[in-house]
Amino acid sequence: MRLNENITKLEQNYLFAEIAMRVRRHREEHPEAEILSLGINDVTRPLAPAVCDAMSVAAQEMRHADRFHGYGDVQGEMFLRRAICGYYRTFKVGIEPEDVFVSDGAKSDLANLCDLFAPDSTVLLPNPVYPVFYDTSVMAGRRIVFARGTKENGFLPMPQEHIHADLIYLCSPNNPTGAVYTRAQLQAWVEYAHAHQACIIYDAAYEAYIRNAALPRSIFEIAGAETCAIEINSFSKMAGFTGVRCSWVIVPRALTTGGQSLHRLWMRRQATKYNGTSYIVQRGAAAVFSAEGQRQVRMDVQYYMENADLIRNALRRSGVFTTGGEHAPYVWMECPYHLRSWDCFERLLRYHGIVSSPGAGFGAQGEGWLRFSSFGSRETIELAAHKLSALDWDQLALWQASGG
Ligand code: PLP
Repeated sequence: MRLNENITKLEQNYLFAEIAMRVRRHREEHPEAEILSLGINDVTRPLAPAVCDAMSVAAQEMRHADRFHGYGDVQGEMFLRRAICGYYRTFKVGIEPEDVFVSDGAKSDLANLCDLFAPDSTVLLPNPVYPVFYDTSVMAGRRIVFARGTKENGFLPMPQEHIHADLIYLCSPNNPTGAVYTRAQLQAWVEYAHAHQACIIYDAAYEAYIRNAALPRSIFEIAGAETCAIEINSFSKMAGFTGVRCSWVIVPRALTTGGQSLHRLWMRRQATKYNGTSYIVQRGAAAVFSAEGQRQVRMDVQYYMENADLIRNALRRSGVFTTGGEHAPYVWMECPYHLRSWDCFERLLRYHGIVSSPGAGFGAQGEGWLRFSSFGSRETIELAAHKLSALDWDQLALWQASGG
């Protein structure tokens, strides 16, 4: 047998598996220690009642021969695609149900979209960013160039004309930095994509966390995006579907290259490799967009954002620099005294029982930074905020100097 050599080029562990492994080891060594988890991507609030009710009704339908659902429309049920378009209309974006593809998660969508593009495509990735962008590009054997996020550019890297790319991944609000592009900045990316005949893959998984109405919630708010961009969004963070699994991809019919329609090719790809999203799950997802569903899921988003405020304020009180956490459930902290990310992570875990995510795991530009997630329970976040606000970083740095 011959392996895909590209897969052997990946780090041994996926970032969040590595964090979980280190936390497990710490637990085994210190079974008595209290651990406050601010490191995870996962939500903790229960599903909205409107969603559970809709899924219960759908499950009961399956008992009856005349209302049973077998294989569905591979593109997604029309009732859900229409509801998604209705959601876009609330922020004045016109999307047609024909352009919407429902599926089982943004992670799979991000990976699967690789199928559309030539193996020797050059991919432009923001750095730092959600590690799946990089890992899937490595597995596909792509040439990768980076758009570097820094403290100076507010972790919102902009295109550079002299660097060519065929495929551009953007994530706004960004995981891990929480940075959000403005309309003018996205306009510059759309113009760059047109100039390079490139396609933008826009990950809007945290769109529901944007609190400022002036900030764009979709790439399709930008003129010209429908001929150069694909958008991915997910019910995971907007409505707690991390365990239920449902997402969508917008591939506009206007998006073509060399006379080929990307919409048609994506439809062809999905018809071969995907058999549709569970009917029960799609009923639950559609309930997210009902008036009651929206009221309920927005309360959860607000809950997580209040957590983010608690974390941000606590860290600032302790004297460190932070950014993010205003339009995203992640607070991004600069490690003081030039501590390296994993070093700072280990010390926070060992001496304070606080789990974070090392910025270096999101790309080289994340080195020296930590991400704090606001997806925990209020109780966990309050305990962590209490510890963080009183944290003595000089002491932490001394531990480092003396090897802990
Ligand atoms: N995109 C980003 C930026 C994410 O942070 C995540 C999950 O953390 C995903 C996509 C994956 O979402 P899903 O649960 O829909 O696979």
